[in-house]
Amino acid sequence: VRLQSIWTPDNVVKSPYKDVDIPNRTIIEHVWENLARWPDKTATICGLTNRSYTYHQLFKYSRNLASQLRSKLGITDGDVICTMMNNSPEYVLAVLGILSSGAELTTVNPIYTAHEVYRQLLLSRPKVMIGSTDTVNVIKESLKMANMDIPVICVTTSGGLPAHTISFQELTGDADHDVLKDVKITADDVAILPYSSGTTGLPKGVELTNKNVVVNCVQSDVDGVKQYRDTTSSHQESMIAVLPFYHIYGLSIIMLHKLSVGAKIVTLPKFQPNTFLSTLKNHKISLLYVVPPMAYVDQIVCGAAPLPKLDIDRLLDKSKIDVNFIQLYGLTETSPLVTTMVPGTKNYLTAGVAIPNTELRIVDSEMKTLGPNEVGELHIRGPQVMKGYRNNFEATRNAIDENGWFKSGDLASLDQNGTITISDRLKELIKVKGFQVPPAELESVLKEHPSVLDAGVVGVPDTRTGEAPIAFIVLNDGHKADVHGIKEFVATRVAEFKRLKDVVFLENLPKNPSGKLLRRILKEKYA
Ligand code: AMP
Repeated sequence: VRLQSIWTPDNVVKSPYKDVDIPNRTIIEHVWENLARWPDKTATICGLTNRSYTYHQLFKYSRNLASQLRSKLGITDGDVICTMMNNSPEYVLAVLGILSSGAELTTVNPIYTAHEVYRQLLLSRPKVMIGSTDTVNVIKESLKMANMDIPVICVTTSGGLPAHTISFQELTGDADHDVLKDVKITADDVAILPYSSGTTGLPKGVELTNKNVVVNCVQSDVDGVKQYRDTTSSHQESMIAVLPFYHIYGLSIIMLHKLSVGAKIVTLPKFQPNTFLSTLKNHKISLLYVVPPMAYVDQIVCGAAPLPKLDIDRLLDKSKIDVNFIQLYGLTETSPLVTTMVPGTKNYLTAGVAIPNTELRIVDSEMKTLGPNEVGELHIRGPQVMKGYRNNFEATRNAIDENGWFKSGDLASLDQNGTITISDRLKELIKVKGFQVPPAELESVLKEHPSVLDAGVVGVPDTRTGEAPIAFIVLNDGHKADVHGIKEFVATRVAEFKRLKDVVFLENLPKNPSGKLLRRILKEKYA
């Protein structure tokens, strides 16, 4: 298929696909729309234990949970509920229960330290937390730091219920669903509140409405964009969900969208090559979503960070199977999908064309729009763009202009066909294995160190993880510190993927006259 995007006279590139109608329904209404077509098919199953739920069970148990969240824990429309778990079938159940209860969902990385969870708690102010045996201790510690006393629900798949927690199993048990008649959530209400640092600064709550997420599902169902085969009596797409559900890629593309089309979601709590390979085989996985460091099936879909072409050639060469490889591009702020490769095209260096209802433009530093093959900042406009950053008018205004253009902070170019090539990142964000490492966060951790006067963090290329963070430190007069000590200080405060790869001591940091850190110079210094 040769798809031709449209270049308008003012250098806006319109999607080559026909617009889709923007549905006016909630995520929950969308997920259950076709439930009657596949009630007895497996919706989700654990790749390690085979614990599973059919679509009908998931529907019933999630409504049990939603009812009891309202009747027993006092949840009402618009309250925030926070999840902190590794991927499991119960995670899927929890998400559907939360959204059915009228609450907004915010997700925390299950490997976060109490420090990191604490900061997100202050920003999102949840009314209830849902964790699992391996995360409740960190949850409790972070609640203590935040001085918050809220119910903690715990998923236990083996062993007893930890002290001072409420049993998830009990809350998903039989309940009267009458209270759900009070849920008055509409398509324009916020449903999901993931965290992203955007182009600059600390992580911010990204307000994704029901409509943002539902339209992104519908945009993904169009022939050409579609990466799955329809569910029929004889076929059901089977996918591994190892990319974490806390990130929008796992939550929206792998969980919510695939539930809406009746696929089977095989969950794995973490990436371990042996269990991953045995799950591929045992569950006859037909569709595989990966991120660049874990690039194997009929169809492979990869996104969330730049992918070196050499890696794909090596993968396709090694596996000796004729797989269809698709690269996606998107962001948390865009629910997330923006562009996708047209199936069958083999130019892996590009991330494809805009999905329906989506416009792109490339802008230079003077805000002039650029023509074909010129490199500049990518701006995106479409119904999947977030409502804004929670309680942060300034950051929202800097991110979305008055005409609805969202500034991605990525450097890219568009060719005559509207095919996009992402060439670099303009924003300060560092991506390690596809996950966000905001330099501002590490800098604020470093400044808590008694000997550190000033700190600047940048990302450098890393063959294993894509990028890795390096810190430049200015010490207080008369203070001493060594590389190991600084690394350890950070390591005890942040999740493993955010740990510093190296530390460099400087007399002062390069800054512009207004005091802004010049990160490019730091990068060049390190190179
Ligand atoms: P996140 O909000 O965590 O999904 O991060 C979004 C960022 O990841 C984008 O702004 C890009 O910098 C990067 N990214 C996502 N997909 C791609 C891709 N296919 N190629 C290059 N960078 C990507």
